Amino acid sequence: TSGYSVTMRNKYLCPLGMAFSLQERQILGIHGLLPPKVETQDIQAMRFQKNLKKMTDPLQKYIYLMGIQERNERLFYRVLMEDIDELMPIVYTPTVGLACTQYGHIFRRPKGLFISIRDRGHIRSILDNWPETNVAAVVVTDGERILGLGDLGVYGMGIPVGKLCLYTACAGIRPEKCLPVVIDVGTDNETLLEDPLYMGLYQKRDRSQAYDDLIDEFMEAVVDKYGQDTLIQFEDFGNHNAFRFLRKYREKYCTFNDDIQGTASVALAGLLAAQRVVGKPITEHRVLFLGAGEAALGIANLIVMAMMETGMTQDEARKKIWMFDKYGLIAKGRQQETDGNQEAFLHDSPGNIQSFLDAVNTIKPTAIIGVAGAGPLFTHDVIKAMGNLNERPIIFALSNPTNKAECTAEDAYTLTDGRCLFASGSPFGPVTLSDGRVFTPGQGNNAYIFPGVALAVILSGVRHISDTVFLEATLAEQLTDKELEEGRLYPPLSNIREVSVQMAVKVMEYVYAKGMAFRYPEPVDKNNFIRATVWNTSYDSFLPDTYDWPDVSFMPK
Ligand code: NAP
Ligand code: MN
Repeated sequence: TSGYSVTMRNKYLCPLGMAFSLQERQILGIHGLLPPKVETQDIQAMRFQKNLKKMTDPLQKYIYLMGIQERNERLFYRVLMEDIDELMPIVYTPTVGLACTQYGHIFRRPKGLFISIRDRGHIRSILDNWPETNVAAVVVTDGERILGLGDLGVYGMGIPVGKLCLYTACAGIRPEKCLPVVIDVGTDNETLLEDPLYMGLYQKRDRSQAYDDLIDEFMEAVVDKYGQDTLIQFEDFGNHNAFRFLRKYREKYCTFNDDIQGTASVALAGLLAAQRVVGKPITEHRVLFLGAGEAALGIANLIVMAMMETGMTQDEARKKIWMFDKYGLIAKGRQQETDGNQEAFLHDSPGNIQSFLDAVNTIKPTAIIGVAGAGPLFTHDVIKAMGNLNERPIIFALSNPTNKAECTAEDAYTLTDGRCLFASGSPFGPVTLSDGRVFTPGQGNNAYIFPGVALAVILSGVRHISDTVFLEATLAEQLTDKELEEGRLYPPLSNIREVSVQMAVKVMEYVYAKGMAFRYPEPVDKNNFIRATVWNTSYDSFLPDTYDWPDVSFMPK
């Protein structure tokens, strides 16, 4: 191995670094390869945090954090969990978006599994190359619609990696049970196809039957290797494929689409929290979406389910929901086509609508939800119109990353004189109005949902995940009245671990009650069970289990 000696030696110093005890160093044969001091994790964390504080560039922080994840996973998660509100915007939206666009340029080491369309017929043997044998959850993307950034091909790997970081940090799911996957069927992103540092196949996206066959083979290979109850989360697929695959696989595998279902759950939770402030039942809301894709339709359908729970008919509920896409308001008789998923929300045209502002003034929504990924389209006029129409307008700017958000928190609060109930997909800081009032915007991000749901699904042995699970996961009642007053619609991120555990308890009780859980025996006290099961970041000993036998064992009688 000459010429690789530093790499080879350093390999043995992971995963604890200077936290290896003296005995461990001696027994493992690494004594002398580390500075003499045996460090606690506390000291290691202190060094890590100090270095992070010195960095000003978010991408630099991302690279540093990802490096620690490679070398000392427990230290990484400890620091991430201790400072989740500061660091989630680094490992997750918005910085992860930047990291994905730069993936080939900032690349250090791969962190997930890459499966390409050239590998057809061999996916099972590729899975065998993955060193962990006990995987419980897979997050998979094909990179076609990464956040609101479009087609990033294999550069999309940052997303499954980031999502699974939150499985562990937010819900205590063991990191070795998590497998990030990117499926490479090419990319239609011309910039990447010309980039010598790009890392995927240099070809246009395969949209033929071969693509479908590849995904079929992937699903089969995963359950063949890891079991039928392996959770498979679809993430950031293009619109058409997202809906198709969800329909195709939801009854056959333990799967969900986070952009459709996870987003639905978090947005509904926000609406339910807002409803506590507004004091109107959900059935009295009228919702206008900007965007009519995965997120919009997922949210709309879950709102319909929530309205129906109160006794409303499906038709009545659907009439409360309008959508506005690239071509304008979706209504009967318009020239541009609508797709089958949108049909439920195709209403009689209310007249000639030229702009989103027109739509707001005509439909008179109580809530507008932005999920177009097309940038700041909630203009000042739109926000003011919402303020004129409603005492407490609900304004959700859910598109990611930050520069795709429909409006800023500052605009929403200032232009409605602090009356709006605002949430955004990527984080915004607190806003102080000229009269001194301070509002803390909530982050309406599916990160509040998927870790807790995944934890419950994994621990209960659920085989199929129904939409009702996402209805169950809405977390509205966890907010205190004081938090609502501050403008929060979601619990503080610093509390997300507790939020996820409580959600998992709720979902677990639900799936057992409904006969959807297949892990037996059913834990009697689910709260205790979950808390006892979740992973923590303290180091395990590397010492072998040594003990003596009494001398008499070897004495002939
Ligand atoms: P999608 O399925 O591609 O849907 C995008 C929708 O927006 C389509 O209906 C599209 O219309 C419409 N649209 C595009 N440009 C528009 C414009 N200029 N004006 C009006 N409508 C326009 O994507 P998606 O999965 O729904 O995601 C959309 C955004 O939501 C992304 O930015 C994503 O990051 C964000 N998101 C946030 C969360 C969260 O947790 N906060 C979760 C999921 C997604 P056409 O079909 O006609 O192009
Ligand atoms: Mn997503």
